[in-house]
Amino acid sequence: MNWNDVIRYATDGNPAPSGRVEKSEEEWLDQLTPEQFRITRQKGTERAGSGALCIAHDPGKYSCVCCGENLFDSTFKFESGTGWPSFTIPIRENAIKYEKDTAHGMSRVEVMCNVCDSHLGHVFPDGPEPSGLRYCVNSESLILET
Ligand SMILES: [Zn+2]
Repeated sequence: MNWNDVIRYATDGNPAPSGRVEKSEEEWLDQLTPEQFRITRQKGTERAGSGALCIAHDPGKYSCVCCGENLFDSTFKFESGTGWPSFTIPIRENAIKYEKDTAHGMSRVEVMCNVCDSHLGHVFPDGPEPSGLRYCVNSESLILET
C-alpha cells in the first residue's frame, strides 16, 4: 500500500470487503456509547490526545468498535505526535474503505471500515516508510484485542 493506491481506491472504487454489516441508526444507537455513535456514524472527531488508545503499546489487533472487523495490527502503530492513534498500513488491504472528503475547506481522504462504513478518521501521505502513509484514527472507533 502507498499513496497511489489510496488515491486509486478513493477515485476508482474500493476493494471488495470480506463481508457486510448494515444496521439502522436505532440499532447503532442501542449498541454504541453516545461518543462512539457521534464519531463512527456521524463522522465526528475526538479531541486530540483524549483517546484511550492513543498511547496504547500492547501487542494486539485493533478492531472496528461497530462490527468487530480487524482493521489494524499493533505492529504497524506508531507515535505520530498528533494525539490520535496512527498506523502505517491496515491489517489487510481490503479492511479499509477510502473516500475523498472536502469538508471543512480541506481536501482529505476519509478512511472507513470496509464492512460497516464506520468512520475511522483520515489517511495522509506523510507517514513513515515503507508505505509513507499515516492512518490517523479516532480511538473511539477502535477496540484493542490483546
Ligand atoms: Zn466495522
